[in-house]
Amino acid sequence: MGQDESRMVDEKTPPQTLKSRTLDAVAEYIRDGRARRIVVMTGAGISTSAGIPDFRSPDTGLYANLARLNLPYAEAVFDIGYFRGNPLPFYTLAQELYPGNYRPTITHSFINLLHQKGLLLKLFTQNIDCLEREAGVPDDKIVEAHGSFARQSCIECKAPYPEELMKKAIHEKSVPHCIREECDGLVKPEIVFFGEQLPADFFENRSLPGEADLCIVMGTSLSVQPFASLPMMCGDGTPRVLINGEQVGEMGSRADDVLLIQDCDTGVRKLAEACGWLDELEDLWEQTAPWARSGQPKPEQADEPKKSPDEQLQDEVDKLTKEIDQNLQLGQDQHTWLENHVDNKFARVQDNENGKGPTAPLTTGKTVASDTKAERREPSDGGLHHVFPWLSKKSSL
Ligand SMILES: [Zn+2]
Repeated sequence: MGQDESRMVDEKTPPQTLKSRTLDAVAEYIRDGRARRIVVMTGAGISTSAGIPDFRSPDTGLYANLARLNLPYAEAVFDIGYFRGNPLPFYTLAQELYPGNYRPTITHSFINLLHQKGLLLKLFTQNIDCLEREAGVPDDKIVEAHGSFARQSCIECKAPYPEELMKKAIHEKSVPHCIREECDGLVKPEIVFFGEQLPADFFENRSLPGEADLCIVMGTSLSVQPFASLPMMCGDGTPRVLINGEQVGEMGSRADDVLLIQDCDTGVRKLAEACGWLDELEDLWEQTAPWARSGQPKPEQADEPKKSPDEQLQDEVDKLTKEIDQNLQLGQDQHTWLENHVDNKFARVQDNENGKGPTAPLTTGKTVASDTKAERREPSDGGLHHVFPWLSKKSSL
């Protein structure tokens, strides 16, 4: 991440609160009952081992496949202006990402363990996948900074939309409309799109880390504001632990910062073990297994075909590619309709948003394939790069 080494705390500087800047000292601090109000901050890195496709990696092909949705630019799939004119690409992706397709990781279960022990003050997550909820963390302990699939509402009148109907719509690949007939606006999950504000919940809770006695940051590059500034809200003497593949943000610049540079699942297991919680954690995680949830006995290990992360990702990509192909077939009528209507509609959306909407004209399915690069644009400020940071990093489809 291009860190400035000089900003890191000098080795000779003694910690203020911990005995040392080590995992064991953090565990001792917790075991001694000095960490009673823990804030946890997470990003995409805690969900990659769940098999959630990492869009950042060009190797997965998922990003490239977005181009096949006839989008004028890849980010359009999460652009509220584009969504108004053509919600189908988003719903194609939503079916893949909708909760229920993935099992929480042991890192998600660790957050639930903190909650069960009465130690979790709040979880701030950048993830939209709801895996913290699936692991058992209750709604009132979660701030989904970039929204999530947990709720859905009409984009026009904001009327909530019933979850059961949403599940049905996702399953049937249909686009849901407002339950108020006189409105009939489009419904979407409350994921923060380009052109939308972060949830009020985030702003109402963003100073909460100042009340924490321990901060744990996991699986995030801390590169996207305003989320990236959350760890800075912690008091000076509050120990902050980073469990991540690399050093990020200004973590490591304070006297009580502890850096565990490794993958989240490994780091969490080590921390749990040092706290004497490992068996408890493994048990809790086991409850999230599909067989456990359906009340089945635990299958033999040999029955579980073990696929490498690369193979799992390839499976996901293949599945999504198939879905996209099907949807493109189904969508021919819609594209014809779009050719006739969408330019007008899009112009209206732009007027409504006072030029805040996408600047690229919404092209038809017929012309976009050859114009993809020309039609691309960078995401606007406050856009979805804080939800899907990898989208804004790509220079071409
Ligand atoms: Zn409505």
